[in-house]
Amino acid sequence: DHQATVIDGKAVAHTIRSEVADEVRQLSQKYGKVPGLAVVIVGHRKDSQSYVSMKRKACAEVGIKSFDINLPEQVSEAELISKVHELNANPDVHGILVQLPLPKHVNEEKVLGEISLEKDVDGFHPLNIGKLAMKGREPLFLPCTPKGCLELLSRSGISIKGKKAVVVGRSNIVGLPVSLLLLKEDATVTIVHSHTKEPEKIIREADIVIAAAGQANMIQGSWIKSGAAVIDVGTNAVDDRTKKSGYRLVGDVDFKEASKVAGWITPVPGGVGPMTVAMLLKNTVDGAKRVIEQ
Ligand code: NDP
Repeated sequence: DHQATVIDGKAVAHTIRSEVADEVRQLSQKYGKVPGLAVVIVGHRKDSQSYVSMKRKACAEVGIKSFDINLPEQVSEAELISKVHELNANPDVHGILVQLPLPKHVNEEKVLGEISLEKDVDGFHPLNIGKLAMKGREPLFLPCTPKGCLELLSRSGISIKGKKAVVVGRSNIVGLPVSLLLLKEDATVTIVHSHTKEPEKIIREADIVIAAAGQANMIQGSWIKSGAAVIDVGTNAVDDRTKKSGYRLVGDVDFKEASKVAGWITPVPGGVGPMTVAMLLKNTVDGAKRVIEQ
């Protein structure tokens, strides 16, 4: 029976984190400076709190200094923007991350657009995304989850050039930027979204599938081309009474069935998830290096 190679995102992320820790050490030995990441969180969403505490912990592990900015749910857009400006001006801060989603009364686009390009470690500034979309332009930062997907491919020895890639999803934070990145790496890219007819026909052609629809087990084993590389970004909670929490996480791909045909596949959890945080650390140290080495 065929079994796909399972790409261990946790292990790859661990390697990247130790590489980042080395770079942080070198910066501090050479220049006496420590990279800093500011994490801005508004309100009390449980999921946001847990992402933020994960990021904070990861920073501490590699020696990045984290600055925590907790703002109340009712904070005004103007106050939030002035906080961003303050962080833009702070020389100890090399990366600024505003945890999404923001409360409804705040214009997310406006706030993200105020982050200094040089500190946009999430890579969500429209100018960074715009440069990603244009030939011959280099964004200062790539969005973390898309960058993590490509890093998983390259560190698994999977080439992208000339391959047919299908991305399921077109959100600003995953689907769209990952499509642009694959295009930059010379793949032929098709994007499947909620209006796409017969997605299975398109996905079956793919050498590389990036699933980011947020639909539990939507992509069936029979939709996968034999030998394809499958990167599952989807993180969906489904009820599971055998778990203490009452739920478990599954991807957008039917892992068990897809494993019987794919060449490579990422698990959920333990695939793309850990890579996102690792890439955030990498972006922060890269941003710090750019400033400090100048
Ligand atoms: P969004 O909900 O913003 O976007 C989902 C996209 O998938 C949309 O473009 C939507 O199409 C498309 N889509 C939805 N249903 C279908 C369908 N049945 N068929 C085809 N396309 C469909 O989600 P995100 O991009 O923010 O996240 C996607 C998934 O990735 C989620 O499960 C999320 O939890 C996970 N995630 C994981 C991260 C990690 O670090 N591992 C980081 C970020 C996200 P349309 O545009 O037409 O509406």
